[in-house]
Amino acid sequence: MNCVKLSDSDTVIQIEVEIQKIMPLLCKDCNGRRFPIAFPDQRDALWLCEKCKNFVNIKDEFVREWTKEEMEENKTKLENFQKDVTTEKTPEKKRRSGVN
Ligand SMILES: [Zn+2]
Repeated sequence: MNCVKLSDSDTVIQIEVEIQKIMPLLCKDCNGRRFPIAFPDQRDALWLCEKCKNFVNIKDEFVREWTKEEMEENKTKLENFQKDVTTEKTPEKKRRSGVN
């Protein structure tokens, strides 16, 4: 079992290294993680650094700043996601207390 686990993590590390060679996974300015954001009007995803609030393209070239609207949109999405998680748990609790 241990052997299987070890070889699995080796593969994961190898894939990570491969990706980093061809994608701007890390921000040059703050060394933070960038996230690929897909835009419908663009062929390739842009890479966002949430700390520096800017986008680079696949070649790690600066494209533009992260706009206020996009930040708000991102915040709303996150809040909606958290709301979904909490509302999913609530009915279960209600049902359980209703039995007694
Ligand atoms: Zn950064």
